[in-house]
Amino acid sequence: MRVPFMAGNWKMNLLKDEAVSLARSVVEAAGGSGVEVGVAPVFTCIPAVAEVLAGSEVRLIAQNIHWEDSGAFTGEISAPMIKDAGCTHVIIGHSERRQFFGETDETVNKKLKSAFSHGLIPIACIGETLGEREAEKTFAVIERQTRGAMAGVGEADARKIVIAYEPVWAIGTGKTATPDQAQEVHAYIRKLLAELYGADVAEGIRLQYGGSVKPANVKELMSMPDVDGALVGGAALTAENFGPIVRYKV
Ligand code: PEP
Repeated sequence: MRVPFMAGNWKMNLLKDEAVSLARSVVEAAGGSGVEVGVAPVFTCIPAVAEVLAGSEVRLIAQNIHWEDSGAFTGEISAPMIKDAGCTHVIIGHSERRQFFGETDETVNKKLKSAFSHGLIPIACIGETLGEREAEKTFAVIERQTRGAMAGVGEADARKIVIAYEPVWAIGTGKTATPDQAQEVHAYIRKLLAELYGADVAEGIRLQYGGSVKPANVKELMSMPDVDGALVGGAALTAENFGPIVRYKV
């Protein structure tokens, strides 16, 4: 049984007081929700949010890491550093990082390996652009990104990964993939994972959908057999929206 996992990606938003107040609401919403919940604040808010989440089940997620542990990489932060700050999870290869900060399948793979080597659970993001979907390259892109991300990742680590399918054309645009579109790609990702690690491992890996998830569409998306959670951007920034997403089952 895959426990649904709802993660809020706060991106480059919220100052400390706002982050603390939202984190408190998320802890409240998560109680009795029957799903796993996590939030990804900006780095500077991680210590304050860690205090709020202490003793709760809500996961603390970093938005990015460098693949090296330390060194001359001005402006970067590493897996042991975010772990030291209390994070248990890390988002890797978000499309905004691929688009604006030059991340590639290769850097995603290095970051995944660093996360695993420090006992962090990665949420690896993959997804096609609108141009790629219109050119009917969706499955080719998803295959390249999945195989690239997982290259050299062993079965024991693969069992722990969370993969977020986030069609780039649906992120922050208000345009959501239909439940059938999401399911089609999720089933394809699971098939790829089965080829790489066997059906048993693939069946246990959680696949989140991301792209304009909101209270109005969460139930329908979550009713799909291979949609195991959501990575939520805009709607994760307010308790009014993220609360009902977290509590979609209640
Ligand atoms: C995201 O950033 O991962 C995302 C899915 O954003 P939004 O929910 O705003 O589309």
